[in-house]
Amino acid sequence: MTTRSRPAIVVAATPTSNGDLHVGHMSGPYLGGDVYARYLRATGRQVLYTTCTDDSQSYVVSTAHRRGLAPDELVRTSMAKIERSLEAMGTLMPGLPPIDDRYRTTVLDFLKELHAAGRFQLRKVQLPYARNAGAFLYDGLVTGTCPSCLAASCGGACENCGHPNNFDELLDPKYTIDPSDTVVFRECEILVLAMEDYRERLTSYYAARTPRWRPHARQLISELLSKPLPDIPVTIPGTWGIAAPFPETPGQIVYPWVEAMPASMYATWWTATQLGRPTTEVDELWRADHDAELVYFHGFDNVYHWGLVDLVMLLAHGDKYTTPESNVCNEFYDLDGEKFSTSRNHLIWSASSPPAATT
Ligand SMILES: [Zn+2]
Repeated sequence: MTTRSRPAIVVAATPTSNGDLHVGHMSGPYLGGDVYARYLRATGRQVLYTTCTDDSQSYVVSTAHRRGLAPDELVRTSMAKIERSLEAMGTLMPGLPPIDDRYRTTVLDFLKELHAAGRFQLRKVQLPYARNAGAFLYDGLVTGTCPSCLAASCGGACENCGHPNNFDELLDPKYTIDPSDTVVFRECEILVLAMEDYRERLTSYYAARTPRWRPHARQLISELLSKPLPDIPVTIPGTWGIAAPFPETPGQIVYPWVEAMPASMYATWWTATQLGRPTTEVDELWRADHDAELVYFHGFDNVYHWGLVDLVMLLAHGDKYTTPESNVCNEFYDLDGEKFSTSRNHLIWSASSPPAATT
């Protein structure tokens, strides 16, 4: 198949459904992805440009608490606003796919296949735990200090330097919803995927692909590869998200970031269906034999997740799926030299969502 006739799948970062898109989002991945998709289409290529909302993120819970809303109400209103904003931009996307039973089945099938193949390992880890609330903390539920750059950071990965801070690595952790709660570390058994097991394939992948990446993302990948690679949580003791179906971790949920690849496959299938090109299997267009050119557009804070974690989730399936040709990542949008920030009231919302409706 020649490059000219290769189908293309362009995926823009999956927006968290905890508010509308602001100008930083829109001028970053959604505009960049749209321009690239239009360019491909103008050169005669068959292209699918897609994304879907990332409803399982813990940031939905923390934002809903701050606004006095139920998380599912916040998800519903945010998805409608995000969809209106994308439509107002005039992107090639035909809308946002519903996060429904087919979505959840796609995510679980993707993970069950890896579980059945013995790819996951049960690990004892120390997690921050809010003693009064009786809740384990991860990602948006915990804030503290990044152990790599010492900037303020949430759990999971640091927005400032891009490095991960899994499990007990975040310094001085506080419970986002109630900073007065006492946070201790408590042992917990979760399923993980050991990224270090994929070092050889990652190294050859990056050697071939990162020459096309932007320098900052390339630098972060090289910093991450220079150290032991962390384990990826596959399940987590949380209450918001998709229930994990594995007998080793009863009562836990699927760790939100490992939904990204099956979510993107589902979004690709839904978009193809909307455009009159349905496929029998939801993951069909992502299979290696389809030979699609796959390109992601996202912000620098997603380089660790989309560029490493989710790549390993694809590689864990052997040679079944295609891997991205490139991760095009934008830097944060600055205002007077400072990062756009909700807390500094910098956000400029899309025209479809005036500030009064979102704060
Ligand atoms: Zn940092």
